[in-house]
Amino acid sequence: MTKKERAEIVYEELKKLYPETSCFLKYKKDYELLFAIILSAQSTDIKVNEATSLLFKEYDSLEKFASASPSSLIPYIKKVGLANSKSNYLVKTSQILLFSYSGKVPKDRKILVSLPGVGEKTAAVFLAEYYNYPFIPVDTHVKRVSNRLSLVKEDDPIKIETDLEHLYRDKDDLISIHRRLILFGRDICHAIRPNCLNCPFTFCKNNKVG
Ligand code: SF4
Repeated sequence: MTKKERAEIVYEELKKLYPETSCFLKYKKDYELLFAIILSAQSTDIKVNEATSLLFKEYDSLEKFASASPSSLIPYIKKVGLANSKSNYLVKTSQILLFSYSGKVPKDRKILVSLPGVGEKTAAVFLAEYYNYPFIPVDTHVKRVSNRLSLVKEDDPIKIETDLEHLYRDKDDLISIHRRLILFGRDICHAIRPNCLNCPFTFCKNNKVG
């Protein structure tokens, strides 16, 4: 079986498993999505959504974030972890967005990664979720699942992203592929003790059913 054939099977099976997907993070404005993604580093979407449900109510404009002291944000975000650095990122990024980009989150990946707290994955998730840019951002689930399914043989997230985007270049819903790989990693292909007996991918060498 070629890699392209495997990729097609993965695409079709994950679509059956997860027909409808939506962004895991809750937001109403462009900067709210960016901030939620910054907050999600080394945390969970559930914790981030809990935190932002109060944070975005209290700080309901970029101006409020930009003029806040980082320590005033900490009570809202302490449960997501790394609250000291993340509160600094939100305030500094708000100031830069307001003063350099007219309060809009830039659509440019290179500019995004220059913002405090924004790495390649954060920038890719933002652009793919908010603007449907053709990216497949790579987190720990996407990395593990795509390697186990022999879609990639890489360790570096940027190389994995490039390979996956090439493999699925004929699809127009790359963000859904990203979400489905994450859901599959969370639900079935766990890092420890994957549920191989209930996995549809019989070509995976770990699968005991095929
Ligand atoms: S067979 Fe197991 S390791 Fe392979 S993709 Fe399925 S759950 Fe993951």
